[in-house]
Amino acid sequence: MSTGGDIGNDCWCEGTVSTILAIWDQPGGQAPGPLEKDEDEVQMAANLGIDKLELTEDCVVVEWSDGHQSKYDSKYLRINCSCAECVEKWSNRKLLDPATVPADIHAEDYLMVGRYAVQFLWSDTHYTGIYPFKPLRALCQCDECKASRERTGI
Ligand SMILES: [Zn+2]
Ligand SMILES: [Zn+2]
Repeated sequence: MSTGGDIGNDCWCEGTVSTILAIWDQPGGQAPGPLEKDEDEVQMAANLGIDKLELTEDCVVVEWSDGHQSKYDSKYLRINCSCAECVEKWSNRKLLDPATVPADIHAEDYLMVGRYAVQFLWSDTHYTGIYPFKPLRALCQCDECKASRERTGI
């Protein structure tokens, strides 16, 4: 007569997330992750910054220092993670299968990495991904950015 059995395997463990958050909250504490500073990215940070970042149920809203606002679908951002676990560095091949990303993925928390990047703690406990401002801005899905990407052919 066992009543236990409601431990869902398809659900991330609350404990894991709070453990990571505890690491993040330590003074000077940084979640371990690839922290390669690219000169270009540091340069870029001089003229591109984030004024405000908001995490909602299913999206991430970024207000850039130049007044532009980007709204990212959480799943889209998570799929575009470029950390070593998600993208093979030397070949640029995607290792992450988008199908394995839960549909209800969202960012639990974020950290500013210096003044050039932002790091998210995703609800699937993935937290090694660092999004430098420049590529992050390039992921903007608004009509204006899409149009300018088409113009420049990127
Ligand atoms: Zn990743
Ligand atoms: Zn945009």
